[in-house]
Amino acid sequence: MILVLLGPPGAGKGTQGEILAERLGIPKIATGDVLRAALRDGTEQGLAAKAYMDRGDLVPDAVILGIMKDVLLSPAAEKGAILDGVVRTVPQAEGLTIMLAELGRKVDRFLLFDVPEEELMQRLGGRVVCQGCQTPYKGLEPGTRCEKCGETLVRRKDDEPEAIRNRLKVYEAQTAPVVEWAKEKKMNLHKIDATGELNEITERAMKAIEEHTK
Ligand SMILES: [Zn+2]
Repeated sequence: MILVLLGPPGAGKGTQGEILAERLGIPKIATGDVLRAALRDGTEQGLAAKAYMDRGDLVPDAVILGIMKDVLLSPAAEKGAILDGVVRTVPQAEGLTIMLAELGRKVDRFLLFDVPEEELMQRLGGRVVCQGCQTPYKGLEPGTRCEKCGETLVRRKDDEPEAIRNRLKVYEAQTAPVVEWAKEKKMNLHKIDATGELNEITERAMKAIEEHTK
């Protein structure tokens, strides 16, 4: 079973992805992780990615998909995988479906983790980090002393309300078309209410996964 997780920053995809991976006994594959592994192992695709990164360029989708393909061909992913952060744009969604077709596989479910914008702002905002040991804190004011090392807590530019709103806008602009694309292509897309308790969200996701699998 191949699952693709979609959702805005702060929706909890990563956390739920890990819980679901455990429940289903398949690996969670996140773009950042597999890219780092490919760079570390110096695979052919990893070296290709490194060449772009060394020039300060973004790694093209084709290279990322090549890395994904290698991972999906590994024994660990024989029964399936949960893909996190792999699909953010329509071209990535198309590229992934083509690559999977080459492997004789397909996306079984797109799971869209849905959280209202105000709640995302709350979840993502209010974060401060220690400028000494980098420990993140929630609900403390900048200028407070770190409990661990005594250094001052600061708010990063990325965590300012304006920056967060921008990140959400970028998500909306890129991923809303993916949802439309999935509907048009009659893909199995399930919108999951990702508010409330962690285990409630997991149960909703499991229900969406088990539907149609009988
Ligand atoms: Zn500290």
